[in-house]
Amino acid sequence: MKDEKTLYIVVPCYKEEAVLPETSRRLGEKMRALMAAGKISDKSRVMFVNDGSKDRTWEIIAGLHEQDKLFSGVNLSRNRGHQNALLAGLMTAVNYADMIISMDADLQDDVNAVDAMVDAYHAGYDVVYGVRSARKTDTFFKRFTAEGFYKLMQALGVDIVFNHADYRLMSRRAVEGLSQFKEVNLFLRGIVPQIGYPWTTVEYERAERFAGESKYPLKKMLSFAFDGITSFSIKPIRLILAVGMVIFVASIIALVWALISKLMGSAQAGWTSLMASIWMIGGIQLLSLGVIGEYIGKVYNEAKARPRYIIERVLND
Ligand code: UDP
Ligand code: MG
Repeated sequence: MKDEKTLYIVVPCYKEEAVLPETSRRLGEKMRALMAAGKISDKSRVMFVNDGSKDRTWEIIAGLHEQDKLFSGVNLSRNRGHQNALLAGLMTAVNYADMIISMDADLQDDVNAVDAMVDAYHAGYDVVYGVRSARKTDTFFKRFTAEGFYKLMQALGVDIVFNHADYRLMSRRAVEGLSQFKEVNLFLRGIVPQIGYPWTTVEYERAERFAGESKYPLKKMLSFAFDGITSFSIKPIRLILAVGMVIFVASIIALVWALISKLMGSAQAGWTSLMASIWMIGGIQLLSLGVIGEYIGKVYNEAKARPRYIIERVLND
C-alpha cells in the first residue's frame, strides 16, 4: 500500500520499570504486525514519555531506543502528572505522526484494540475512544466510584464519553485542534469531545495492571475527579446560589414567625433553634466559600499560564 500513514503510540510512564520490558515487547509486536499488514508506515513509533520517574524508567526507555529505532522517548524535566505527560507526548508526536494513540504503560488497556482504532482511522474517523466493555477486574469500590463519576459528570452537563479513560486514537488534525486549548487544568477526556470532528468508539476489556502498583491512589483520583468537574461545569456555583436563595427565604419566614411570637408574648429562650441555625448557616457559608474559592484558584492558575510541561530531551530518529 503506498501513501501509508504513520502511527505513534504515546505512553506516559511514571515509575514503570516493572512493566516496561513487557509493555515494549507487546507494543513492538503489535507495531510490526500492523506494518506487515500495510496499515501503518515503517516510520511509526512507540513513544514513551518519562514523567520524572525516580527509578530506572528513563534508562530502560533510552536502552530500548538504543536497541530498536521503533522505540522513541521523551524525558520531562520533572514529574508533572499523567495528563501533562500525555500532552507532552501528543505535542511531540504530532510533528511526525498522522495518527496518535495514547495508552497507559501498565497494559490495562488492551493492546489488541489498536487494530480496530487504526481501522476506524482509515474509515475516516478523527477520534476513536477506547471504551471499557466490562470492569470485571476492578474492585466493587473502584467500579462504583468510577461509574458514579461518569454519571455525575454527565448530570453536570459535561460532554464526556461513558467509561472512556485516556485510551484513544486521534488524527493529526484532532491533536492540532487540542493544541489550541491552552488550559493549565488539564482534563483531557473532557477537552477532546470539544474538538469535534467525526468520532467513534471501540470496546475493549480492561485488564489488571501487569506489574507494579497504581500511581493513582484514592486521594489523587478524587482530586482528579474534582478538577474534572470544576474545569468543565459551573453548576456547583449555581447550586450554591440556589441553596442561598432557599435559605434566605426560610430566614425571612423565621423572622416573621419570631416577630409574631414576640408580639404575642410567647417568646421562649430559643437557644436550640438559634444554635442550630447559626451552625447550619455557618457551615453552608463555609462550604460555598470553598467551592467559589476552588473556581478562583482555577482562574488564578489559568491567568499565570505557566508551561504545562518542560521537555528535557527527545530520543527519536
Ligand atoms: N502516570 C504518569 N504520571 C503520574 C502518574 C501516572 O505518567 O504522575 C502514568 C502511569 O505510568 C500510567 C498511567 O499514567 O502509564 C496511568 O497510571 P496508573 O496505571 O497508575 O493509574 P490507574 O490505572 O491505577 O488509574
Ligand atoms: Mg493503570
